[in-house]
Amino acid sequence: MYDHILIPTDGSNVAEVAVDHAIDLARKYDATLHALYVVDIDAVNLGLGTEQVDRIRQGHFGDMEELEEKANAATGAVADAAAEHGLDVVEDVRVGRPHSVIADYAEANDIDIVVMGSHGRSGVKRALLGSVTERVLRSTHRPVLVVDEHGED
Ligand code: ATP
Ligand code: MN
Repeated sequence: MYDHILIPTDGSNVAEVAVDHAIDLARKYDATLHALYVVDIDAVNLGLGTEQVDRIRQGHFGDMEELEEKANAATGAVADAAAEHGLDVVEDVRVGRPHSVIADYAEANDIDIVVMGSHGRSGVKRALLGSVTERVLRSTHRPVLVVDEHGED
């Protein structure tokens, strides 16, 4: 049933709680985990010139080392946690609008279930769901497991 599990991560604690669920599923189903971080093009657009944004789109972070480090730290944390259980992780960093990239990735890679946090880095709890999660739910027909950190013991 679950051969490919996608865990979109923004490196937040909430996403890490979701990782525990993804790892447990991956172990039970002997599945491959995919850890995906999306560099939010809208956020990047605010501060950078179009040339820089184009370069980042093509995966050349240049002197944008901070962006690259944040991305690698987020997917790397998933890979490290999974390695403790001998699980394989495909790590990927993409640029775009997070929910579209996540939904497109799920289609392109035959993802059987997406496991993600109810909230993320911005951590505003007034809404039941963060905007990325809400939009992913509206953008894909694939199963999505939403993990709320407050639902944990
Ligand atoms: P908002 O961004 O709407 O202000 P938030 O940051 O609390 O609120 P979301 O961004 O929706 O909430 O985050 C929910 C989940 O979506 C995260 O736990 C993570 O799984 C995923 N996610 C959010 N941003 C990204 C991203 N840039 N790349 C990959 N996954 C992401
Ligand atoms: Mn967010």
